[in-house]
Amino acid sequence: RISYYNGEYVNHDEMKVKSGDRAFYFGDGVYEVVRIYDGRFFTLDEHADRLMRSAEEVMIKGLEREEIIEILHEIKERNGITDGALYIQVSRGIAPRDHGFPDGSKPVIYASIRSSKRPEQQMESGVRAVTTEDYRWLKCHVKSLNLLANVMEKQHAVENGAKETIMHRDGVVTEGSSTNVFMVKNGILFTHPADNLILNGITRLEVLKLAEENDIPFREEGFTVSDMSEADEVFYTSTTQEITPVINIDGRKVGDGSVGGTTRRLQSFFNKKITELISV
Ligand code: PLP
Repeated sequence: RISYYNGEYVNHDEMKVKSGDRAFYFGDGVYEVVRIYDGRFFTLDEHADRLMRSAEEVMIKGLEREEIIEILHEIKERNGITDGALYIQVSRGIAPRDHGFPDGSKPVIYASIRSSKRPEQQMESGVRAVTTEDYRWLKCHVKSLNLLANVMEKQHAVENGAKETIMHRDGVVTEGSSTNVFMVKNGILFTHPADNLILNGITRLEVLKLAEENDIPFREEGFTVSDMSEADEVFYTSTTQEITPVINIDGRKVGDGSVGGTTRRLQSFFNKKITELISV
C-alpha cells in the first residue's frame, strides 16, 4: 500500500512521521475522507472545497487545492483500489513543540487509502443508537484532527451495544459522533442547521438535494431528544455510512421499530446517484 507523507510517496507500513509534526502533538490540522466507488471519486470537489475551508478557518496557510486533488488521484491510481475510502490530513507544519503558530512552517500533507465495501447490512436492517450530551468545542463546522470528544462519544456507543452516539446540546440534537442526524415526523425531514455546532456533511447536503429534487419537504431546524423519541423515522449520514437507518434509540424503538419509507426512498435515490457515477 502506498501512502503520501510530507512530499513523498512511501510504503504505508514503513512510513515515518516527523517528530515535530503538529498533528502529532496538538492534533493541529484538518482532514477529509473521500469515497471511491468502482474507481471513481464521489463528490471530490465538495470534499476538496471543505478541506480548503477548514484550513482557512484554523488559519493554516499555503495549502493548494490543485495539490490536494493531484495527491488524491495519485494515491488512488498507485494503489489500484476501486472501492474504498481515501483519507487526507493537513497539519500546520513541523516545528519544535510550542502552542503558538511556528514562523514560516509549511503545511504537511498525509494521504492514504483503504478498501471498504458499502455498509449493506446496516443500511438494510438499521442500527441502534444512544444519546449523550455534546461537550465538544464551538467550531464543530471545522473538520479538525482534534477528535478526542468524538472518540469518547463513539466509545459510549460501543460500550452500550450501539453503533452511534447521537449528541445534544441543552436537549437539541446536533449530530452523531461521526455522522449527521435526521428525523422524519409527519412526512417532513428535519436536520440541524449547518452552523458552528455541526459538521456540514457532504452526505447531509446530498440528502437535502435529493429531498429537494424529489419533493420531500425538509427543514434545517433543530429538534430535541424528546422530539426525536416521537419521530416516525431517524437516520444518520456520512461518507462511509451513507444513509443508515436508526431503529432503536436508548433502548426504545423508533416509530414501529422498522426502517421507514422516507429513509428507504432516500436510500434508493442515493443508490441511483452511485449507479450513475459508475456508469459514465
Ligand atoms: N459529522 C461529523 C462529526 C463527522 O465526523 C462526519 C464525517 O466523518 C460527518 C458529520 C459526516 O460528514 P460527511 O457526510 O461529509 O462524511
